[in-house]
Amino acid sequence: MAYRSKDEDTKKEVKREKKCRICIKDDTVDYKDVQSLTRFMNDRGKILPRRVTGLCAKHQKLASQAIKTARQMSLLANVDENIR
Ligand SMILES: [Zn+2]
Repeated sequence: MAYRSKDEDTKKEVKREKKCRICIKDDTVDYKDVQSLTRFMNDRGKILPRRVTGLCAKHQKLASQAIKTARQMSLLANVDENIR
C-alpha cells in the first residue's frame, strides 16, 4: 500500500487501516490456544496469508509457527476430516 502513493485521492478512498489484532490487544500467540489459532486458518486447515489475516509480519510468523507446533502436538488437524 505504501508504495502506491502516486494518486492521493484514490488513496483516501481506499484507505482502510488494517491493524494487527494481536498488537492491539497486546496479546501473545500460544500454540496451546487452539481456539484463537483457528482464526488464522481456513476451514480446510490451511494457514491463511497475511493479507487475509491482517496480522503484522511478526505476529503472522508467530501464528504460523504456533499452528505448525499445534499440528505436531495433534492439537490441530493437518487436513480437514471431511476431505480425507
Ligand atoms: Zn502484530
